[in-house]
Amino acid sequence: MIKMKDVYKTYGNGVTALNGININIDQGEFVYVVGPSGAGKSTFIRLIYREVKPTEGTIVINDTDLSIIKEKKVPFLRRDVGVIFQDFKLLPKLSVYENIAFALEVIEESPRNIRKRVMDVLELVGLKNKARFIPDELSGGEQQRVSIARAIVNHPKIVIADEPTGNLDPETSWGIMRIFEEINARGTTIIMATHSKEIVNTVKKRVIAVEDGLIVRDEHRGEYGYEA
Ligand code: ADP
Ligand code: ADP
Repeated sequence: MIKMKDVYKTYGNGVTALNGININIDQGEFVYVVGPSGAGKSTFIRLIYREVKPTEGTIVINDTDLSIIKEKKVPFLRRDVGVIFQDFKLLPKLSVYENIAFALEVIEESPRNIRKRVMDVLELVGLKNKARFIPDELSGGEQQRVSIARAIVNHPKIVIADEPTGNLDPETSWGIMRIFEEINARGTTIIMATHSKEIVNTVKKRVIAVEDGLIVRDEHRGEYGYEA
């Protein structure tokens, strides 16, 4: 499903962010990526949707070897990987509906399919009644739910979230976690970088700890393992 073999990443400025990563993640797993700031968590995550390319090593996503993929095939890869950010990255002038529909329009879905899919996904995240609102009219938690809806509207096999609750209060964060658990229960792989000790230690999942560009711990139903 997701395989990394001897993956290294050195950025243009000479900083080595990943120092030989080996990992297998199966379809349907829920994985937390934890570790100190600067450890390489974001780089690890950005490799999976090919926001960055490895300097060395092999990355296979859903049977596609990213090191030999042609540039024009990257949009097809990205259909299978939904991405969620700490700061939501919604388009501010578009409505909730349009923010989500946009993800489908760029892959040339029919109008009827777009409408059905957008309304279904808004129902899943509990925002059907806010379809016409713009992001500024929503709370942070609601904006994050829109960004989740946008990430999953294509039914990707993998959802990647880089500190999705980093800007949210604890209560709102639990609501986001419930949505992730629901998506995961439908068979979607979830990979979530987080600094939330409370979430990791409460909602027990596989924990991968990254330090200095290396995986130093990989545990089934693991602990956060750092001070909050
Ligand atoms: P984390 O997400 O765990 O904080 P990152 O993957 O963001 O770690 O960063 C790992 C290391 O790579 C850090 O030293 C960081 O400064 C560096 N880094 C991250 N992104 C870039 C970039 N685009 N250009 C240069 N260095 C980067
Ligand atoms: P239901 O089928 O459950 O009655 P609707 O299809 O009427 O729900 O839509 C629910 C919300 O989504 C309404 O606020 C509606 O105006 C809005 N909506 C539906 N389609 C669009 C669209 N194409 N553009 C913007 N808003 C839309």
